[in-house]
Amino acid sequence: MSLGSKQRKFARMIADLIVWAYEQGYELTFGDAYRDPRVHGVMGVKQGYGRSMSNHKQRLAVDFNLFKAGVYLTATADHEPLGIYWESIGGSWGGRFNDGNHYSMEHEGRR
Ligand SMILES: [Zn+2]
Repeated sequence: MSLGSKQRKFARMIADLIVWAYEQGYELTFGDAYRDPRVHGVMGVKQGYGRSMSNHKQRLAVDFNLFKAGVYLTATADHEPLGIYWESIGGSWGGRFNDGNHYSMEHEGRR
């Protein structure tokens, strides 16, 4: 699948994740979504925070801030229900590699 096709599929999957989360009683705010290479460096270049090779730079990752009943939930375990749902629709969940609020789509071996 081309990068562009993945990016468009990813956006649609994120919509499903958001709707599903709200149906379970969660609320979300966006953390990092797209990391503009003009700010964060092109792929392979580390500039500012974040990794040099990041799916955020390719529009294939979103970090979500998670809330339930107005409480900000920060633990990876808090994100697990969303992570399991995300994986069930084909996504990669950062909770599998110590980045619990990171929801991405695999591309060229990166998540
Ligand atoms: Zn992330």
